[in-house]
Amino acid sequence: MAESGKDIEKAKSILKQDGLVAIPTETVYGLAANAFSEEAVVKIFEVKNRPSFDPLIVHVDSIEQAKDMVENVPEKAKELAARFWPGPLTILLKKKAIIPDMVTSGLSTVAIRIPDHPLTLDLLHALGFPLAAPSANPFGYVSPTSVKHVNDQLGDKIPYILDGGDCDVGIESTIIGFIDKEPEIFRLGGIPVEDIETIVGKVHVKLHSSSRPEAPGLLESHYAPLKKVKLKDNSVLEAAADPGEIGLIRFREMDPAVPETNQIILSRNGDLTEAAKNLFSALRKMDEMDIKYVVAESLPEKGLGRAINDRLRRAAAVNRRY
Ligand code: AMP
Ligand code: MG
Repeated sequence: MAESGKDIEKAKSILKQDGLVAIPTETVYGLAANAFSEEAVVKIFEVKNRPSFDPLIVHVDSIEQAKDMVENVPEKAKELAARFWPGPLTILLKKKAIIPDMVTSGLSTVAIRIPDHPLTLDLLHALGFPLAAPSANPFGYVSPTSVKHVNDQLGDKIPYILDGGDCDVGIESTIIGFIDKEPEIFRLGGIPVEDIETIVGKVHVKLHSSSRPEAPGLLESHYAPLKKVKLKDNSVLEAAADPGEIGLIRFREMDPAVPETNQIILSRNGDLTEAAKNLFSALRKMDEMDIKYVVAESLPEKGLGRAINDRLRRAAAVNRRY
């Protein structure tokens, strides 16, 4: 178990010595290191068992700090940052040399955001350098939304977890990049596409999950629990299935065909914000249940429902371990 608490001085001293600290954000917990130090950043890849082709998000405390690391910022990027930062929007911008290539996996762009969490913002202010931080989980597994989640998997590998409570948004940031100054969504996430479009007009969403280097983290199989996940548009289960062997993740209501103890409801009120917040802990709970596989219900394909469905699709696409 890693020590956890709200001690910013302790977190600061570890990070200054090129160590790793798990930090709370409004999206998920991050595994943080000094973004300017290759020696620190390499530890993130080791601890997560993350392939070096999967770049990291750099967390800053202000637009001024972001400006020091990038150039050629498109007008629409400025508008989005002004509207959504601090918040769950990551912007891909042309990087300056001060950002080590290891952070961006050799790409010419760096992913940047200001996280919306008071403790982490205080830490960033105190540090004076930005933090590279991917989600604090082993590569490919479900992202952590609580201190317990981080401790369950990385507790033996890191010295400290900054305890900011459970994550409010519960799903990773939306990632937006620019091609010829025009915005394109690389990953659906905590800021719905519709909200982005109110600021910059119609945006293209890269729907294809891919292992191509320009969109490295968008692997087809990701965000996956250990149990096999099947995604269903409705509750109709295979006739052959034994209901006791199935765990259900449902949007609003139970399915009478399956024991209630095997089911998790994401939001009884049908609130997509609440559903996103509960999604990753639901997937983790399924791993603890005595079931053979998970059947998840698709949510309405609008607002945060799109990001939730995206995560469920990737979880279902996993073809390892079984
Ligand atoms: P994580 O913080 O674990 O959700 O991972 C960060 C994700 O950000 C990566 O998996 C990539 O999908 C994405 N990312 C980071 N930097 C870039 C970049 N320069 N270009 C495209 N995607 C990026
Ligand atoms: Mg991740």
